[in-house]
Amino acid sequence: MVTVEVLGGGGEVGRMAILVRGSRNTVLLDYGVNFDEEGRPIFPLHVRPRDLTAVVLSHAHLDHCGALPGLYVSSSPPLYTTPLTAELAELMFRDAVKLSGYYLPYEEEEIRNALRQAKPVNFNEAVELNGDSLMFLNAGHVPGSVMTLMSIDGYRILFTGDFNLASSNLLDGADLYNVPRDIDLVIMEATYAGGTHPPREKLEEEFIKAVKETLEEGGSVLIPSFTIGRTQELLLTLIKHDVTEVPIYVDGLARVANRVISKYPQFLRDPNLYAKAMTYSTEIMGNYFRRNALRDQAVIITPAGMLKGGAAVYYLKRLGGDRRNAVILPSYQAPDSPGYDLLTKGVVRVDNEEIRVNAKVYWFDFSAHSGLEELVNFIRYFSEGTNILIVHSSPRNALRLSEHLEGRNIHVTLTTGEAFEL
Ligand SMILES: [Zn+2]
Ligand SMILES: [Zn+2]
Repeated sequence: MVTVEVLGGGGEVGRMAILVRGSRNTVLLDYGVNFDEEGRPIFPLHVRPRDLTAVVLSHAHLDHCGALPGLYVSSSPPLYTTPLTAELAELMFRDAVKLSGYYLPYEEEEIRNALRQAKPVNFNEAVELNGDSLMFLNAGHVPGSVMTLMSIDGYRILFTGDFNLASSNLLDGADLYNVPRDIDLVIMEATYAGGTHPPREKLEEEFIKAVKETLEEGGSVLIPSFTIGRTQELLLTLIKHDVTEVPIYVDGLARVANRVISKYPQFLRDPNLYAKAMTYSTEIMGNYFRRNALRDQAVIITPAGMLKGGAAVYYLKRLGGDRRNAVILPSYQAPDSPGYDLLTKGVVRVDNEEIRVNAKVYWFDFSAHSGLEELVNFIRYFSEGTNILIVHSSPRNALRLSEHLEGRNIHVTLTTGEAFEL
């Protein structure tokens, strides 16, 4: 018998953690955190690190990796991930310690211990695990992200992590081609089961139009963006559409992520376009360069994606007052985030300071998750006998998805702590 325990991400988006127990192996799939409104981390359920025979990390977002170094205080289970994810996760761990270190059960030493156990695995490379096996397939979500195909006690299980079936400028869509249709269990995310994304081409066109109009009117464009994935995708989109009449600046941790990703062209859809984008864009190395970047018209891409601090706030204070400028939000904005307030009220409160924004404000759905239609097609790809376990979704969205798929073995997790048996 194989048991699957949902230690985090049951009936909720984030703090992903799944424990798969077989007779030979106990495998932990992701170990992430969420953050509450005050920035305090919310952890998955506890697991005894010394029970684990393997830890798998799907990608470097904190809602999948943020609790992971806490497993490496006195144990050292092997950590399977792509070499790119290992390097990006290192950035994210250090950033988390800097921002919320007081609340985290790890410090620099545990981060180093975890990374020392990293076993780098590339796409489509089979790994033997005491008689069981695992293989990574491209997940199309962020650079280095994987879906994990496992065989545990003869049961074939797919864990999608976060995945996107649609291709972007940065990545090919998730590699369903190498997944057998008749597997036993699919553990999948359904973050965006609530709606269908607009066609990519149309979205790009509208984004580029907003940028070009602002530049033609003499304004600058500020794009608050997530460090991993979104920043690079937007940069590539701008370069692809020849937005090169003004400098494009990249600030904050996104600069470092850009450099790390450029070391691993094998995970990118178009390494030449990526190299061109890196050559064209300019890194902001500190305050002197920041002030300089504001002197003339420019496009500035910088964290934090929801305007919760970071260099984005610095720029917003200086660019937000001028109506010729534009602020483009290319990501999901949580209802408690300053970005959400900007969209709905035109005012942002950060560090007890109110920033009134006269610049034009746009929101674009550059999602890195599959939308409703894609999720339905994804589930239909599998045999009718395949069990589908939905995690990393609100119960409402997951139930909505399952309504489209009558006659399928769909199990929606409603809370964290639920278990499933094969
Ligand atoms: Zn996630
Ligand atoms: Zn993610």
